[in-house]
Amino acid sequence: MTKPIIEVKDLAKNFGKNQVLKDITEQVTPGQVIVVIGPSGSGKSTFLRCLNLLETPTSGEVDFAGENLTTLDTKRVNELREQMGMVFQSFNLFPNMTVLENIKLAPMKVKHVDDATATKRAHELLKQVNLDDHADAFPASLSGGQAQRVAIARSLAMDPKVMLFDEPTSALDPEMVGEVLSVMQQLAEQGMTMVVVTHEMGFAKSVADRVWFMADGYIQENSTPDDFFSNPQTERAQDFLSKIL
Ligand code: ADP
Ligand code: MG
Repeated sequence: MTKPIIEVKDLAKNFGKNQVLKDITEQVTPGQVIVVIGPSGSGKSTFLRCLNLLETPTSGEVDFAGENLTTLDTKRVNELREQMGMVFQSFNLFPNMTVLENIKLAPMKVKHVDDATATKRAHELLKQVNLDDHADAFPASLSGGQAQRVAIARSLAMDPKVMLFDEPTSALDPEMVGEVLSVMQQLAEQGMTMVVVTHEMGFAKSVADRVWFMADGYIQENSTPDDFFSNPQTERAQDFLSKIL
């Protein structure tokens, strides 16, 4: 069996008395695309943030590439975190830098990649997200869909082993959702390991290897998309699907 790249064991997370994640044990293997779906407030973002220790688990373990993040010092956690790209609902591009500079910044600062190499790679990534003609634009001049594609390119510039997406299209006007999803789909086809929180059921159906349905602090179902959408096992999932489909 392939070794998992992410392994979550008995993960729990409380905010005060609010038990958001109760007991989660799951694995992600290299190349897998996991789509996490579930009602608002069910802990999807918290779960994603626990995977790279942006949130500290209350108990349990998160292993990344064979190392238990919860036992490591900050320096090592930061090194490993660089290998996990994260894309949020809001793009958070640096407004005072061009698109190209946004993408080059982390590789040059953090990995000490030289300017020429970083520039070449940034152009390649911009081609990949269909924005090479916007290399010298500033973020304020971009549409939401373009900005999100730059944010994806910027994450990819660090050559992550895994990409985490937290509702990457939720803040976009409807006509821009497709261009971002298609970039994500291409990335999946290239073999990137991805954990994607999204409400885009079409994306889940066509791109996910597994759907994880989260509710009430648990991953209630871990299924293929076919099984999940045609034959959800739990009442919680049946209820959720009846409301959205
Ligand atoms: P989802 O992404 O599924 O909508 P979240 O993970 O954002 O859910 O939130 C799950 C629960 O955890 C909610 O009740 C939310 O209020 C709570 N929560 C999330 N982040 C924090 C925080 N930093 N401090 C306190 N409560 C939080
Ligand atoms: Mg969320």
